[in-house]
Amino acid sequence: MNIILLAPPAAGKGTQSELLIKKYQLNQISTGDLLRKIASNDSKLGNTIKKTLASGELVNNNLVFQVLEEYMDKNTSENGYVFDGFPRDTLQAEKLDDILENMNQKIDYVFYLNVSKEILLKRITGRRLCKSCGKVYNINIDLLKPKMNSICDNCGQELYRREDDNESSFETRYQNYKIQTQPLIDYYQNKNILYEIDSSLEKEEVFKQIESFIEKR
Ligand code: AMP
Repeated sequence: MNIILLAPPAAGKGTQSELLIKKYQLNQISTGDLLRKIASNDSKLGNTIKKTLASGELVNNNLVFQVLEEYMDKNTSENGYVFDGFPRDTLQAEKLDDILENMNQKIDYVFYLNVSKEILLKRITGRRLCKSCGKVYNINIDLLKPKMNSICDNCGQELYRREDDNESSFETRYQNYKIQTQPLIDYYQNKNILYEIDSSLEKEEVFKQIESFIEKR
């Protein structure tokens, strides 16, 4: 089973990916995580990507395709993949169709996580992550606050804010999403594999909607 999570920034793609991989033993592919890993290297490429990520612009397709294909070559998955943050435009969607077709596979579900811009902004400005274990918190949402300010409940390590989690980068990311990624809603609706999810709810409630579509088919 191959799944795409199609959503604006901070709609909960990462959180829902985690729940999906746990329940269905899938392999998560987050192009954002893969690019952030390269950006953490002190190299020419690392520094270029770091700047692009901080600005909120998209990284160029050739590089994203290279990173994606390398990852999929090294991380084959028996049960399938959850694509988190890929594809982000029509060219990327066509590329993914080709890659999967070569593997005799296809996309089974595209979950469109729909949330209002106001909620996204609240989530973005409050999002904090653990440097060590990656757990995600939100200081603007009571249920998701860490017990101690800036410290991870899980492992006691320091929390940090993603460089692109600020209002200015958010605006760029959101506009890019509207212009480049939202047309994919039609692309996948035409293939009859698009399922709309209300992602303004708590993570368990959001996951229940996803599960119910999977179990129904
Ligand atoms: P994300 O973690 O999905 O929010 O992505 C963070 C940033 O990584 C984006 O704002 C882009 O700069 C870059 N990025 C992630 N996935 C892609 C992609 N599929 N195509 C181009 N850029 C991407």
